[in-house]
Amino acid sequence: MKLVTVLGARPQFIKAAPVSRSLSATNGVREILVHTGQHFDDNMSKVFFDELGIPKPKYNLGVGGGTHGQNTGRMLEGIEPVLLYERPDWVLVYGDTDSTLAGALAAVKLHIPVAHVEAGLRSFNRHMPEEINRVLTDHAADLLLAPTPTAVENLRREGLPEARVRWVGDVMYDAALHFGRLADRASTALERLGLEPRGYVLATVHRAENTDDPARLEAVFEGLSRVAAELPVALPLHPRTRKALERLGWLERSRERLQLIEPVGYLDMVALEKNARLIATDSGGVQKEAYFFGVPCVTLRDETEWVELVEAGWNLLAPPRDAETVARAIRAHLDARGRPIEAYGDGRAAERIVTELTER
Ligand code: UDP
Repeated sequence: MKLVTVLGARPQFIKAAPVSRSLSATNGVREILVHTGQHFDDNMSKVFFDELGIPKPKYNLGVGGGTHGQNTGRMLEGIEPVLLYERPDWVLVYGDTDSTLAGALAAVKLHIPVAHVEAGLRSFNRHMPEEINRVLTDHAADLLLAPTPTAVENLRREGLPEARVRWVGDVMYDAALHFGRLADRASTALERLGLEPRGYVLATVHRAENTDDPARLEAVFEGLSRVAAELPVALPLHPRTRKALERLGWLERSRERLQLIEPVGYLDMVALEKNARLIATDSGGVQKEAYFFGVPCVTLRDETEWVELVEAGWNLLAPPRDAETVARAIRAHLDARGRPIEAYGDGRAAERIVTELTER
């Protein structure tokens, strides 16, 4: 069996790692990677291939830096000839980026079956580019590999046939378990940054709804800065957020109050997450990793796709309307603990995905 995996953004490298490992351990399966180029900086891409044991991409499309329409169009143009040449049995796509949609669309038009890992997530916010990518990819795909029962239910409500849907668990849980153990031995991030276990807040910010809206961005950075007066705040800065801060002239001011660092590799990230007192983020993946490592999380958004985290008490939603809302939420949630969550499975989602692909 031959699979073509299309990916291009940081969270997809992490999701692909456990699945690629299971695929390579399965006889008679060959995986070919297409990297669209959506994330291209070494610290947003290369470091993950080096650290996580993902096969080297056979194709690099070099698409990035444009608008959503430009990127998706160029990716489609680049993926189609690869699929015509490789003629795979499956195209595998992950998550909710432009690379996900382009991979799915190129494949269905060529009548090649598409499997979507992380199917069925919904924020019900159509302003998010990710939400459009999720909905369209799910409706194009032949095999919908859902991470949670809530995701299964979302797909059912949209009328997608049950025969296409499988609850396999969350591949990010697989990754967190495996690389979490490695990070304990391999990462020196805390020492390098001079951070004490449980002595800092870890923050990440990159969603367009926060970076592209100066009022929200100010609420986030001013709110985090107020917290930093009491507890250090370390923040690996996503390239999009760096650009937004530079454009507004806020980069230096933020640097004086927060510990702004370059994006880090996954092992360092996991070490920083595991040892944080609290995580404040607008990332999807980081919200869950906080729970996997038993760390309370404040989500700097109006809603979340990972509703189980909020229901179980681990995650507090703090829509960044003003700085004090953000600071108050973080202070209030510093020592919060929640209930265990069954929804993400048992850390063997990747194996189930490979079984679904090979036994169909
Ligand atoms: N991550 C990382 N280094 C960083 C920031 C994040 O390895 O400097 C990881 C993080 O642990 C998670 C993934 O990247 O596994 C999340 O990606 P991101 O927040 O970009 O995307 P989202 O999950 O919101 O789609």
